[in-house]
Amino acid sequence: MFTSLSQGNHSAMNPSGPALYDAVLLDRDGTLVEDVPYNGDPEKVRPLPGAREALDRLRAAGLRLAVVTNQSGLARGYFTERDMHAVHARIEELLGPFDHWAVCPHDDTDGCGCRKPAPGLVHEAARALGTAPRRCVLVGDIGRDMAAALAAGATGILVPTPVTRPEEVAEAPAVARDLPGAVDEILRRDRAVRPVVPRTGRAGTVLVVRSDSAGDVLVTGPGIRAVAAGAERVALLCGPRGRAAAELLPGIDEIIEWPLPWIDGSPEPVDPDDMRRLTARLAAVGAEEAVVFTSFHQSALPLALLLRMAGVPRISAISDDYPGSLLDVRHRVPVGVPEPERALSLAAAAGFALPAGDEPALRLRADLPAPAVDSAAGDYLVVHPGASVPARACPPERCAEIVAALAADGHRVLVTGGPGERELTARVAAAGGTDLGGTTDLAGLAQILAGARCLVVGNTGPAHLAAALGTPVVSLFAPTVPFGHWAPYRVPTVRLGDAGAACRDTRAARCPVAGHPCLSGVDPARVVAAVRRLAPG
Ligand SMILES: [Zn+2]
Repeated sequence: MFTSLSQGNHSAMNPSGPALYDAVLLDRDGTLVEDVPYNGDPEKVRPLPGAREALDRLRAAGLRLAVVTNQSGLARGYFTERDMHAVHARIEELLGPFDHWAVCPHDDTDGCGCRKPAPGLVHEAARALGTAPRRCVLVGDIGRDMAAALAAGATGILVPTPVTRPEEVAEAPAVARDLPGAVDEILRRDRAVRPVVPRTGRAGTVLVVRSDSAGDVLVTGPGIRAVAAGAERVALLCGPRGRAAAELLPGIDEIIEWPLPWIDGSPEPVDPDDMRRLTARLAAVGAEEAVVFTSFHQSALPLALLLRMAGVPRISAISDDYPGSLLDVRHRVPVGVPEPERALSLAAAAGFALPAGDEPALRLRADLPAPAVDSAAGDYLVVHPGASVPARACPPERCAEIVAALAADGHRVLVTGGPGERELTARVAAAGGTDLGGTTDLAGLAQILAGARCLVVGNTGPAHLAAALGTPVVSLFAPTVPFGHWAPYRVPTVRLGDAGAACRDTRAARCPVAGHPCLSGVDPARVVAAVRRLAPG
């Protein structure tokens, strides 16, 4: 039931750990060359500034290149296939060779699976280049490009032009000023997850730390696996809300559960005796080093002090604040990096890399017992209406409308939720789904998600659980935190919700805007369409 997502050894071009990407897919018009509508004339090809040099840097890094382009001018008879090939020959003359050209010749009315925002061209290009979409990054200038990348499970970087709409910029997982800027970002991200100085031998016991909720622990999984690959033994310190997720992750030998009052959203007062007990507990681990994983708004320094008092000789953490002698490896990460890569980059700074063949994706233990859940048989979707943070939950009445719309489209819908969400799931499921609220623990939920065609969920733990299982996600994403940091990682995704709503980047736990407009306006018909895009047939 629990399958490993690692797919062979892709690390040929990088000696120290698998690279993030094998290939870069590029939109044509407005990204590589000036957008001349329905151009069938090679004389009108004008490369965008810096394109040739930027592409050559990708080629030099060993990345394969493909063009993914909608050319509805073919369907409309504005130019012939021969004209188009002449244009492409001219582009290669000016910009150098591409390893593949993926072209959609259809029109919007054809209902094909290749015209962006559908993911077909991304699948085609990845296949032609001998890789998987999740190991590809797509650079394009409009929302359709980003949507196609996400729906295939690829990374997207938007390079806006004056015609790119503001809402497309707001929705994008990442934005660069132009193609050379996108290439900088691709190469920087790839470098960041591989140690500058790889270890020569294994470390003994390493204490890794990730407080907060299930989702936070799940997205740290690749970083923990990197540490585990270079250590004899890994102990994880996590909080009570992250414990169940920690039990699902590979690479952990011992779990220490302890709430940290400087991390929790509604913390207990600091109790000196509790801190003394925690320090003694940490000392008893006998760790020769510690790697403290945090989110960008959390401080690693209070725990670093306790770890010092517990006698841990080497401590690595991300800290913008000056750490003095609290840290041996002080790592810093620019904004806009996905959380799993942020964690991997800290592991890399400490000298740990994923082993060859371990994909930089979320993953669960392969040896988990599969609890029997009768409901999880056959063909179904899952709607998970709750969220650990209220501002990230779609309103119940809207979730009920989504369930009704999916049921009307012929889907069997299971509605899931924790023990405290039974009232919510009963209300939402009454619209046409099966209520499974409170019937599973996190491992049981994982089993249900593993068999689902698709999960409809807000930005909360189960989204990352689905990502770890390879189950596509319709993400009802409140923009209170950046989508690029917290999107389901490397799994086919459709983003819905108003990315430009007034709550954007507030990190609010309760929606600060009357009516919760970022999610209350999600059109159930768009959820139905998203499911069709992610799980056709
Ligand atoms: Zn097509």
